[in-house]
Amino acid sequence: MKQPKAQMHSHTPQSRALRNQVIAYAQTRMDYDPVPLDGPKPFEELFNAAGQTITKKGLGGKAALELWESVLSQATISSDFPGHLAYIPNAPTEAASAFDLVVSASSIFGGSWQEGAGAIYAENQVLAWLAHEAGLPPSAGGVFVQGGTIGNLSALVTARDHARSNGLVAERYKFVCSKEAHSSLKHAARVMDVDIVLAEVNEAGQLTGEAVAQALKGQNGVFAVVATSGTTNFGIVDQLRSVGEVAKRNNLWFHIDGAYGLAGILAKSTKALFDGTELADSFIVDPHKWLFAPFDSCALVYSDPKIAKAAHTQHAEYLEELTESSDFNPSDYAVNLTRRVRGLPLWFSLAVHGTDSYGKAVEETLQTARAITAEIRKRPYLTLVREPMLSVVVFQRNNWTKEQYQAWSDKLLKDQIGFVIPSSHNGETNLRFAIVNPKTNFKLLCKILDTLE
Ligand SMILES: *Cc1c(COP(=O)(O)O)cnc(C)c1O
Repeated sequence: MKQPKAQMHSHTPQSRALRNQVIAYAQTRMDYDPVPLDGPKPFEELFNAAGQTITKKGLGGKAALELWESVLSQATISSDFPGHLAYIPNAPTEAASAFDLVVSASSIFGGSWQEGAGAIYAENQVLAWLAHEAGLPPSAGGVFVQGGTIGNLSALVTARDHARSNGLVAERYKFVCSKEAHSSLKHAARVMDVDIVLAEVNEAGQLTGEAVAQALKGQNGVFAVVATSGTTNFGIVDQLRSVGEVAKRNNLWFHIDGAYGLAGILAKSTKALFDGTELADSFIVDPHKWLFAPFDSCALVYSDPKIAKAAHTQHAEYLEELTESSDFNPSDYAVNLTRRVRGLPLWFSLAVHGTDSYGKAVEETLQTARAITAEIRKRPYLTLVREPMLSVVVFQRNNWTKEQYQAWSDKLLKDQIGFVIPSSHNGETNLRFAIVNPKTNFKLLCKILDTLE
């Protein structure tokens, strides 16, 4: 029989040359300071420039890489550009980004201890550190998943499962959160086919224990209360202690969505806002937001991971080897089986730099946020919408229409100064600086404010 050639898989001088070119490109990308912001292009323009890229015989390495470098990458925004302040940007450390290449090169199956033990050991050390910072007991543990959306969903699936096995029976299951909570919670409710009970927020935009108690009145089937520690729109931290206490008093699962903001627990100046985090049955925080790791990564931590395991373990003949062992298998703790070891870039960077550096870097971004807040107050053509609690600063350009905001935002991107998009609150258009990048400095932000005059 003729041996197959495994043509694409064999090491050849050509394959090595291409691999080195790809790595050299990655290095060049990491050397940019600042990185190019770039921006989206319409489909037609991309099609004219890139054409049909998937062909029967292939383009060859040189052409494909050239296509990426000179066309496609330039139509792709760099989220780590210091003037990228929209949504929640991304600001990985060099160590974290570099180690992501190692993760890619290493073919690690992160679902089971059997296959991923060393990598999972490292990830779990990061989860243990986060749990400790949050004040959860040493029994706490969990898994790194793709993002906050899957993290929130997985935690809520666990919470409902737990409530059901404790005898909660209802026609409709429900969880409580505030209207400031993230859209992923609405999505989780839809996926799970459960209802949301909206609780009021106070003047500062926070969910409070009192509001949760009020919302619970006359409700059946509630299985969880979700607080947000750092809303996406404003960075508002709910009153975690009082919300957690009301949840406990009512025997309800207490989940904290800290996808963006929970990193603020590491900074001295904001730590107190997170008082009560230790009451959580589960929390999430996204390393790709304010913990300086590359996309995509969400740390999902349970106070008692056994409960999550009961809810999430997949059973099948081909998995018996895993489910019948007592190993710690990360796939048992979320809606996932095969998984990339998404916590490893953060682990490496933490191992290199130490946890103190993380607290300092978060603190730096907070200081930048406070400095620009003071500057916004000083400028007569701007109005601060709300005093920031964390590193999201929301303000308005006086007397502008939505169209003027949009035109300004488009020009800012076109001029490659920054990426700031109009947002809104209660129907009023505003601008929002989400500051998670230590390279986003006061001077750059002032330059952006200058363009608003
Ligand atoms: C970003 C965010 C999410 C969703 O996280 P993804 O990683 O984008 O899926 C959930 N909650 C909050 C508060 C967020 O800021």
